[in-house]
Amino acid sequence: KAKHAGRNRHAQFDWTMKERQNRTYELETGLRSALANGELQLHYQPIFDTETGRITICEALMRWQHPELGWISPAEFIPIAESSALIEPMTNWALAQACRDAMGWDEDIRVAVNISPALIKTDGLPRAVISALLQSGLKARRLELEVTESIFLEDDRRTHLILSELRRIGLRLALDDFGTGYSSLGALRTHEFDTIKVDQSFMRGVGENPRDRAIAQSVAYLARALEVETVAEGIETEEQLRYARETGFTNVQGFVLSRPVPIGELQALLNRNRADVHDMAALIRQRR
Ligand code: C2E
Ligand code: MG
Ligand code: MG
Ligand code: MG
Repeated sequence: KAKHAGRNRHAQFDWTMKERQNRTYELETGLRSALANGELQLHYQPIFDTETGRITICEALMRWQHPELGWISPAEFIPIAESSALIEPMTNWALAQACRDAMGWDEDIRVAVNISPALIKTDGLPRAVISALLQSGLKARRLELEVTESIFLEDDRRTHLILSELRRIGLRLALDDFGTGYSSLGALRTHEFDTIKVDQSFMRGVGENPRDRAIAQSVAYLARALEVETVAEGIETEEQLRYARETGFTNVQGFVLSRPVPIGELQALLNRNRADVHDMAALIRQRR
């Protein structure tokens, strides 16, 4: 009997694997035409200055509406794009679109674009960035590229050369999901960043967990010493928001302030972006 159950479990496992392979195959096939068919969109999630309460950065987050399967999460389709070389044209499109969109915003608001680790080593990236800036007319200092520390996994001179070149053009670099990998401090040591984005997993527990609090405080302190801006990611509660602010994070991002929204909705948020919103509680009420 036990043997029988084991076989069934095994059969089910095979079936699930097959299903997963089929889905990956279907998504990869769909992605090949997604760009040309206009199925990709950029949504934007505003990032707020903790001192003034104003929006200072808008992060572009890719969205895909598959004609039959509906909305697919980037957590699912970005890895597929990365393993199939589709990520390069998709990123180039995102860079161009994000720069065009940002031209419609106030001069002091930047746009952030996520860049996959594999693209950092390619000559194509600086070219795509320059072309996006030239075609849109956006100033380089208004474009921020978000990369993760995994780009430093292999000590590759090209990575450093390309990052330095991008910064020489005037772009800003953000270190995304800080603290989730194995070389967070190493990444800060070997390269200059303008912004550190502390991963949401650290902000989750700041209410109850003294360890999370200690880590959040240390990163805020380190960033101040390095004269780098900080974004506390994934802020979902008013308590986390208050904590991020008291700890000295310069910026906050999270559902409690705003989810990622389509460009039209973002415009409405930007229109309400007054210079005198100091009270974060009032800010939250206003956003709702
Ligand atoms: P990320 O760059 O760390 O982006 C932040 C993610 O956290 C977004 O998920 C955002 O919706 C989510 N988030 C923001 N605030 C909160 C919060 O308060 N609570 C929770 N639970 N989540 C929050 P999203 O849009 O699903 O994107 C997931 C990841 O996919 C991104 O993580 C990024 O790594 C990748 N991604 C998205 N768009 C692109 C893109 O255009 N290019 C590349 N290479 N990667 C992208
Ligand atoms: Mg990001
Ligand atoms: Mg992030
Ligand atoms: Mg993250």
